[in-house]
Amino acid sequence: SQRFPCTGQQIDIEARRLSDGVDSEKLREYLRRLTQAPHVAGTEEELDTAIYVRDKFLEFGLDSVKIVPYDVLLSYPDRERPNTIHILDGTGESVFSTLGYEEPLFAPEESSPRVFPTFSAYSAPGEPIGDLVYACYGRREDFQYLLSQGISAEGKIVLARYGMSFRGNIVKFAMEYGAIGVILYSDPKEYAPYGEDFVYPDSEYMPDMAVQSGTVMLANGDPTTPQWPSVPGAYRIPEAEADLPDIPVQPIGYREARILLENLAGVQAPPEWQGALNVTYRLGPGFAQPNWKVKMEVRTRNEMATVHNVIGILHGSVEPDRYVILGNHRDAWVFGAVDPSSGTASLLEIARLYGEAALEGNRPRRTLIFCSWGAEEYGLVGSLEWVEEHANVLADRAVINLNVDISVSGNRTLSPSGCPLTYQSLYTTTKSVGNPNPDEIAAGRPTVFHTWLHNFPSEDPDVPQVGNLGSGSDYAPFIHFLGIPSIDMSYIGTEEGDYALYHSLYETFHLVDYILDRGFTYMKGLTQVWIELADHYANSVLIPFDVRDYGKFLRRQAQDFSNTFETQLQEHGISLELWWSAIDNVISAADFFHGEHQGSLNLENPYEVRRFNDELMAVERVFIDSMIQSDARHLIYKPSSSDTYRGEVFGSLVDLLLAADPDWEKVKKGVSVVAHMIQSAANVLMGSL
Ligand code: GLU
Ligand code: ZN
Ligand code: ZN
Repeated sequence: SQRFPCTGQQIDIEARRLSDGVDSEKLREYLRRLTQAPHVAGTEEELDTAIYVRDKFLEFGLDSVKIVPYDVLLSYPDRERPNTIHILDGTGESVFSTLGYEEPLFAPEESSPRVFPTFSAYSAPGEPIGDLVYACYGRREDFQYLLSQGISAEGKIVLARYGMSFRGNIVKFAMEYGAIGVILYSDPKEYAPYGEDFVYPDSEYMPDMAVQSGTVMLANGDPTTPQWPSVPGAYRIPEAEADLPDIPVQPIGYREARILLENLAGVQAPPEWQGALNVTYRLGPGFAQPNWKVKMEVRTRNEMATVHNVIGILHGSVEPDRYVILGNHRDAWVFGAVDPSSGTASLLEIARLYGEAALEGNRPRRTLIFCSWGAEEYGLVGSLEWVEEHANVLADRAVINLNVDISVSGNRTLSPSGCPLTYQSLYTTTKSVGNPNPDEIAAGRPTVFHTWLHNFPSEDPDVPQVGNLGSGSDYAPFIHFLGIPSIDMSYIGTEEGDYALYHSLYETFHLVDYILDRGFTYMKGLTQVWIELADHYANSVLIPFDVRDYGKFLRRQAQDFSNTFETQLQEHGISLELWWSAIDNVISAADFFHGEHQGSLNLENPYEVRRFNDELMAVERVFIDSMIQSDARHLIYKPSSSDTYRGEVFGSLVDLLLAADPDWEKVKKGVSVVAHMIQSAANVLMGSL
């Protein structure tokens, strides 16, 4: 629409400390509103939340606010006929059936007729009948273990338990090992570890009929437009060619899983495979009663639907063409009080504070883009379509993507993941936010930083560990497809950051308001960190990336890689020599860049400042391999092939090397391309051609 002029005015960010204005009462109010109805992507309630967020952005004074729709292929269960799983006796009669939905337990909204029956998105529909096999966490090593015991998943229905990897990977492995259906369940060992008295609505753990819904698609974005945007008129591949699971999948709770497990035949599962149900876990195949079978009746179907991003822009006063992106998804599996509405509440509060400051004449130096994504839960659909549509502009102009999916799932610690370029900014900003936990302050940890350091120490005693970015939320298209530096964070309650009621009916307002974050103080703390980061990136004259941490990161990661694979590589005449020299070059280039070069900059000269910042912005982008036909094009970090949530450094090489019979020419080529890219990072900093 309109072009925004530079006003040239620059604000004193220290003086105004926007983050001091975060209001817990307001966070609570937004969360109450966002969680009143289920808001699954593509439904009328999802559109209603989009309109709510748009209206709030407008009310807060953002300059341009729009709802950006995409028509995409989603997946829904049949509201009238829930998916069920049956045990059939020898005559084909059903002797046990699952319910297909979660029972209302506490909050009135749990009884809403708009709640869908439970489902795994993008499951194939179907009614497979077969013998059941228990595959523990459904990882490759679990299927391998079964084979070592003479048990094949071929033609079987697999019962796998949640907890160690992204559910899409479980289904992929089950398919690879020949399964005809997958039943996913949550075992009390992980999801109700303190017994039946410590479950929702009294506590944060899973009652026995709670079910974790979720997508089982491994790819991202609209499955019918891989790598290009689902804009009106766009070419679409036929659904049959889309990269989607082709077997039925259905999640259940542990009350029902127990019936399946206690009927299983076969040898006892190993001790690590035993869960916390009071039964002897067996491997199968099949049931102890002769001729009993398991049958799945899955009616989940793919369907075109419209999803909505809400994009709110606050133009920068000095560098309107440089973007600091704040993202959070809005669609939920049910009420989504934690995932993602806690994050949406934070996003709204930040928009309010920036909008009000702008109305008072305090505009950030760079442009802020507030993104409320649709259909993240299905596979980062809204964000990836938008990133595909605007790939060129974003690749040129986006400084950073600050993603918060869940702002609070517990009160233990902040848990950030990010690119090495952003480490220093995470240390600085978290040191400036007071600790929301009074006990931590009493223990001598006055800021969010101190509790983070205490929970995640690194080799360097002065700084905490920052996680590597895998995938599983909307930062992924930015970093993995375009090389835009990203941060993802939330306040968590457990070491791994998971929480029991994730993606269940019981992620209600009550859960956050009464159990997880009474007083909304942790949500406030997280929101303050988010603002401090946004301020840091939107207002610092020099973008606060530090390339020295990238150098150290590359050296450490290359060392780990070499320790694991060196002998194999040597046997095939592949040397990492070029890596070591390129990494040395990055390290010395970074020292020069932040030392002599930065020291001699004339900060009054906008051309010098812009050049310095452009060089910083180029560093991460050199690692994008545009020859790769996938949305995972970054050659340093990659979502792991065995667990999409986890970031695997040099992941494409790791995949090649872990193959049964590695293609050594490809490994050789891959090693050489990575060396070239690392050297390119050094060249960018030195301005050398
Ligand atoms: N965050 C969603 C989930 O964990 C989607 C992840 C993805 O598709 O990458 O289920
Ligand atoms: Zn989420
Ligand atoms: Zn989710």
